Amino acid sequence: MRKFLSLENLTLLSVVLGALAGLYIPEFFLKIKIVGEVFIALLKMIIVPLVFTSVFVAVLGLGDIGRFKDLGLRTVAYYVTTTALAVLAGLVLVNLIRPGEDAHIEVEAKKVEHVKELTFEDIVWNIVPSNPVQSLVEGKVLQIIFFAILLGLASLTIDKRKREQIFNLFDGFGDALIKLTGWIVKLTPIGVFSLVGYIVADMGFEVLLSLWKYALTVVLGLLFHAFVTLPLLALLLGRYNPYSYFMKVREAPLLAFSTASSAAALPVSMQVAEEKGGVRKETAGFVLPLGATINMDGTALYESVAAVFIANLYGVHLSLGDMVMIFLTATLASIGAAAIPGAGLIMLTLVLSSVGIPLEGIGIIIAVDRFLDMLRTAVNVWGDLNGARIVDRFLK
Ligand code: ASP
Repeated sequence: MRKFLSLENLTLLSVVLGALAGLYIPEFFLKIKIVGEVFIALLKMIIVPLVFTSVFVAVLGLGDIGRFKDLGLRTVAYYVTTTALAVLAGLVLVNLIRPGEDAHIEVEAKKVEHVKELTFEDIVWNIVPSNPVQSLVEGKVLQIIFFAILLGLASLTIDKRKREQIFNLFDGFGDALIKLTGWIVKLTPIGVFSLVGYIVADMGFEVLLSLWKYALTVVLGLLFHAFVTLPLLALLLGRYNPYSYFMKVREAPLLAFSTASSAAALPVSMQVAEEKGGVRKETAGFVLPLGATINMDGTALYESVAAVFIANLYGVHLSLGDMVMIFLTATLASIGAAAIPGAGLIMLTLVLSSVGIPLEGIGIIIAVDRFLDMLRTAVNVWGDLNGARIVDRFLK
């Protein structure tokens, strides 16, 4: 019974019940709209402290700048490349399938102002802060990430005792934030019930049906990345058979699928990579924890598909410059996302706001998010496992 009442099952049940109830008692959902709004507000509440802490702790966890340069740069180069390939696959697929175009969702037109063309200067100022406290206040996530990386590197050079104090403080703070996120995630069934019910009450049933095409786009992209892109890299760069490697380490992506958390799957990833996958302990011990924090191919792919889908729904025209911005912010959002359930959905606000797509769109896609979260997390962990094996080969 307990198993049946897991968060995944309850969330799924809420989607179905919310949709049905939204059809039959729409007035009820129009009245309790605030429940879903509070749920989204709670998710947004943790984004700023969570991003700063997870990036800062990840850089500080490297130990010293020499290590950052050596193993770090190699690992990061692999991670950025695979993430970029994932986003690219997502952008190509969503522009081919165009799941948002014939969705006919009558979205409340919060008049989207003409989306301004982004210049190179805009991108630079989106990343480089002149006042990091202001970045925190205004929730400028790219600037926060930039500052956290630099501060993390600087902190690596200071006196060891003080550095450990800083690390322990922020590491503890990060744990507390993740705990808080866990509490908020527990509210997902209630939040989803209210949001789905409201959407159906407000817009009719088509919205849910139209989401199938969006979900399918994400799923196809994830399958392509997991079973074509990553195996190709394994063959070309790592010189190993990706399918037999997958069979050896599959416990980890499976655990990632059932928990929707790269962090929860991390101990198992490390164990199977070392004991069954033939990755050296030093490599696995560095590459996998870092990967669980910053390398999320599945999440990056999903961010790009979701952003373009929501833009299409709201009729927001996306220029080539906007696509480039989505490409960059989806990559950075996946780097900044915490390795916990639902983190990718929170980070989506960054991608959406960077090109002026209405944040309310999150309320639409949240209905299918838990399922997509499970799949994208499995791909995230599979990406990390390949990273460990490939980087290991180059260190030999
Ligand atoms: N749940 C994902 C992970 O832990 C992050 C996300 O929400 O996309 O890898």
